[in-house]
Amino acid sequence: MLIVMKHGAAPAEIERVVETIEEMGYQARPMPGAQRTAIGLVGNDGRVDATRLAALEGVREIIQVTQPYKQVSREWKPETTIVELPGGVKIGGNEVAVIAGPCSVESEQQIVETARLVRDHGATLLRGGAFKPRTSPYAFQGLGEQGLKLLALARDEVGLPIVTEALDTESIDLVARYADVIQIGARNMQNFPLLKKAGRCGKPVLLKRGLAATITELLLSAEYLVAEGNHDVILCERGIRGFDPNTRNVLDLSAIPVVKELSHLPIVADPSHGTGRRSKVAPMARAAVAAGADGLIVEVHPQPDRALSDGEQSLYPEQFVQMMHEITAVAEAIGRKIAEPLGAVERVRG
Ligand code: PEP
Ligand code: MN
Repeated sequence: MLIVMKHGAAPAEIERVVETIEEMGYQARPMPGAQRTAIGLVGNDGRVDATRLAALEGVREIIQVTQPYKQVSREWKPETTIVELPGGVKIGGNEVAVIAGPCSVESEQQIVETARLVRDHGATLLRGGAFKPRTSPYAFQGLGEQGLKLLALARDEVGLPIVTEALDTESIDLVARYADVIQIGARNMQNFPLLKKAGRCGKPVLLKRGLAATITELLLSAEYLVAEGNHDVILCERGIRGFDPNTRNVLDLSAIPVVKELSHLPIVADPSHGTGRRSKVAPMARAAVAAGADGLIVEVHPQPDRALSDGEQSLYPEQFVQMMHEITAVAEAIGRKIAEPLGAVERVRG
């Protein structure tokens, strides 16, 4: 529920609303805004009797948030959230950010070479997994902390902020020491203890849609992050489970306009996991930008046939370059542009 104050409401009137919400046993989230001051009421699981609040001085109106998720909804916050990252990269504004890199960090040479390549051709963030969620326990599980160190080294050398996955509650603090953005993978979208910790980790989170998750479930998982105080949340459509083996998943591009209507959070698309085949990545990247994605996350490898994970869906360097040209044209056609790096990110953390 949202309590919207009259224009020019006194601080004491706002304070009284906050106190009343707390006396009623809920939590208050004041949200001063350019157009209005509203106070969010959270902690309720169902309808709240608002008569006491409606009678307070300075209250203009009470808005019941109809969706099961609250703080991530557009009803709660009409303006789109822009997540600001180190180096001046913004996700959620008019510019479309490209996050690119290998599926997994494999060696210093591989990650630094890929970082340089993707930066030189317009990526604004570097991706790469150090802790990998693999379907088979015998598949490469990632380099762990060593992989994080190599990512930090690549950030130092190349200047791109890094996006990397936290797989469990045990390792998320370690990952947060190195990462600029923490990825929560599709298989962990409803790992609620992990979401709660990610909500308190102090870093922006890229939350991927689960393989069989509805959009409502995705937004409720995002609500876990925001409810813990982390407002820097980027959603990611990465394909849902289909029945046709011609693609690895079904990249649900209609989720992009749906999410944009329901939520103020930015959403990016992952055409690599969405299709599972490198020849399908650029077409779906173009389509995702056309559908309004605020960014793309794409797997690129200097030698995809030698990749330790997801080689079949990793772009060859020249395919990445070509894709960047194509999405630049698509972005322009819809009045947007592809984001450019503003400043290098230096320091190694950890
Ligand atoms: C990945 O980004 O490499 C990954 C494992 O993604 P997802 O969680 O979407 O499968
Ligand atoms: Mn992958």
